[in-house]
Amino acid sequence: MKTVGYAAHSENTELAPYHFERRELRPNDVAIDITYCGVCHSDLHTVNGDWGPQPYPLVPGHEIVGIVSAVGSEASKYKVGDKVAVGCMVDSCQECDHCHDGEEQYCRNGMTPTYGVPDRQTGDITQGGYSKHIVVREEFVLRIPENLDMSRAAPILCAGITTYSPLRTWKVTKGSRVGVIGLGGLGHMAVKLAVAMGAEVTVISRSNNKETQAKEIGAKGILVSSDQQAMLQAASSLDLIIDTVPVKHDINIYVPLLDLDGTLTIVGQIGPLEEPMTLPLVLGRRRVAGSLIGGITETQELLEFCAEHQLYPECETIKMEQINDAFKQLATGDLAHRFVIDMTAFEA
Ligand SMILES: [Zn+2]
Ligand SMILES: [Zn+2]
Repeated sequence: MKTVGYAAHSENTELAPYHFERRELRPNDVAIDITYCGVCHSDLHTVNGDWGPQPYPLVPGHEIVGIVSAVGSEASKYKVGDKVAVGCMVDSCQECDHCHDGEEQYCRNGMTPTYGVPDRQTGDITQGGYSKHIVVREEFVLRIPENLDMSRAAPILCAGITTYSPLRTWKVTKGSRVGVIGLGGLGHMAVKLAVAMGAEVTVISRSNNKETQAKEIGAKGILVSSDQQAMLQAASSLDLIIDTVPVKHDINIYVPLLDLDGTLTIVGQIGPLEEPMTLPLVLGRRRVAGSLIGGITETQELLEFCAEHQLYPECETIKMEQINDAFKQLATGDLAHRFVIDMTAFEA
């Protein structure tokens, strides 16, 4: 199947139109006409080669929403016309204990990310959602609930599940005290989701520039991390901290904010941190953890949760042709919203 998208053709170059083929439908495949695709900070890191060499040309995008256009001979979950979504993975072994437990992201044989890796069967490089069409095995296709606005749903598939999964893992509920470090694409979703679960949410930031935005989405306020007095007063006051900072940083200033058995979980930075200190961990039986997206069942649960609460990411809709400008903005500022590409407006 012929399709077209925007691809990176080498490191640190602008994305440009790219014509390529999607595979013929396998028996368990679903073909999707993509209507919207979110722009994730990891798209930018990946195409720039920040996380290692890439198989160019590479079409990024793993926050995909669309309409089913065809199904394989044995696919039974979806029919033509269904509203569906695809997130950060498109395959896994489906045989290991983690896959059986709905934790495909931790597949013992390695899950297949949506773009930039060999397909498990053919070895062809997977290509993401900055394109008009995609073909995905039905086990990795999600259903968009009827009352969820498709034009604003895409960022739920990565930013949403990346923050929802740790909130569920650490059992956030009514009255839980949650801190969110950083109010960017991930952070603003963490705040909205935790608030919807009934938590009391504090945004932790280097400045109080985003106080109004934080309060608008339900946080009780901003704790300024450079204000030592305020940080001291807030010691042992949180049950869970979602750390969305996407670069090397110092977690030692945040750990003392956790109460006994509290957890700081890293969801942003993939790479080194400043050297951690053990004393505040030992003294308060505090934990530092990590978390990677969520499984398929949990992602479906999140889509239902967002529909029920009418909870949406803050989206700025752009045209495919504006992607390079959007990348520049992503690289220079931490925006408290997500760019979403309207693929229906893209013809090439
Ligand atoms: Zn992402
Ligand atoms: Zn597996």
